[in-house]
Amino acid sequence: MNYEIILATNNKHKLKEVREILSPHKIVVYGLSDLNIKLPEVEENGTTYAENALIKAKAVQAFTTMPIISDDSGLEITALNNEPGLHSARYAESLGGHDNAIKEILKRLKDKEDRSARFVCDIVLLNVDKEPRIFEGVAPGHIAEAKMGEGGFGYDPIFISDETGDCFALMQEEKNTVSHRAKALKKLLTYLKINGFVPL
Ligand code: IMP
Repeated sequence: MNYEIILATNNKHKLKEVREILSPHKIVVYGLSDLNIKLPEVEENGTTYAENALIKAKAVQAFTTMPIISDDSGLEITALNNEPGLHSARYAESLGGHDNAIKEILKRLKDKEDRSARFVCDIVLLNVDKEPRIFEGVAPGHIAEAKMGEGGFGYDPIFISDETGDCFALMQEEKNTVSHRAKALKKLLTYLKINGFVPL
């Protein structure tokens, strides 16, 4: 039998990545729009990725009895004091979108020698009658000198993975082997397998 789960997001790109990783394991992932859930605006005012992921997951709990997963993630750039970090989505919004945010980051890094960065992702699982479980994934990398490619989403066009040496925006399935989200999901998968929710 399939294990059905809701991903608490309206982000199509996140949904696609999560599906690609979980669906080979008999897990059916629904997005909010698949279930006609219209989430009121939730204020992500947590002080950690995990807190924000939990805020989003709890907001969805009012609409369903199904297990829920929620992803909160961000790009931390060392030379910018780990900004935009927790505020990655809001940083882009405040500048009119990711294209502008990318331009701004490249400008701010112009004279910086240290271009190291990392993507962080916390996934919260709210399973029926259980405590929330948190799974974290980190992808180490650095910021490119210029935008590369049009693939992926968000800050993908300027993030080069230290593990593959490639830009996230130029990767196809490979992003799902080294990304912060993939790593967090791998931990979630292990938890679901060990606890008998999905087959080993
Ligand atoms: P959230 O939806 O509140 O978790 O915001 C996450 C934000 O972090 C996104 O809007 C992007 O700006 C950035 N982000 C997270 N994961 C990725 C990724 O895999 N690629 C590019 N940008 C990402």
